Amino acid sequence: MAVREIIRMGHPTLRQVARPLELAELSSPRIAELVQDMVDTLRQAGGIGLAAPQINEPLRLAIIEIPGGASRYGETPSMPLTVFVNPEIELLEGDSAGYWEGCLSVPGLRGFIERPQHIRVRALDMNGAPIELELHGLFATVFQHEFDHLDGTLYVDRLKDSRLLVFEDMLHTALVDDF
Ligand code: ZN
Repeated sequence: MAVREIIRMGHPTLRQVARPLELAELSSPRIAELVQDMVDTLRQAGGIGLAAPQINEPLRLAIIEIPGGASRYGETPSMPLTVFVNPEIELLEGDSAGYWEGCLSVPGLRGFIERPQHIRVRALDMNGAPIELELHGLFATVFQHEFDHLDGTLYVDRLKDSRLLVFEDMLHTALVDDF
């Protein structure tokens, strides 16, 4: 196991479009090791999602693990550790809603980002088998945030108003209702 360095905003890899994985690569020791490193890194950092580019590996690979229960987003359902290879998002009919998003690559800051709240995700698992999920609410936001990393996009790019970007320890004074 290895906890890897999480690269921060300003590192060029975070702005790259990551390349898809070939099916044959999924069974390679290098990718198995990379996924294990991502899990170790995510858990050590205490996050709920990590994309490979965040540890400087520009590949279309992301993991999500949501412990559920009380979190900074309030009471949320859980999602066991899941690996998503070459994921794609389809926006489904529904409203958008905003959350104060944080990012392990943008430490110390939070931004209020509105995103569609009903999506379908298609991806492969580590065995190359298809995964299909329909997601609502916070989960829809988390997946869009993570998969944005595979296209070189950070949540700050989606800010509608720079007043909605605050330091984490100032969040209690941010009046989101004013916007
Ligand atoms: Zn992020």
